[in-house]
Amino acid sequence: MPKEGKVVVEGLNLVKKHLRPKRQGEKGEIIAVPRAVYACNVALWCPTCGKGVRVGYRIEGDKKLRICKKCQQLI
Ligand SMILES: [Zn+2]
Repeated sequence: MPKEGKVVVEGLNLVKKHLRPKRQGEKGEIIAVPRAVYACNVALWCPTCGKGVRVGYRIEGDKKLRICKKCQQLI
């Protein structure tokens, strides 16, 4: 969901939802739903650092560039 600045990270931030039985005699279930988290909270893989890093942003002209906060390389 790029418009909202959110990404869905699978396996992370799972929200357990309890589903009620729709009919009598049916079992309710618990399902895990990945919840959207803000992209700024997600570590991105930096090939230069060789690990997941926090991202920063740099504005160049009218472009917003995503950079690694550690080595300042563009990601
Ligand atoms: Zn880096």
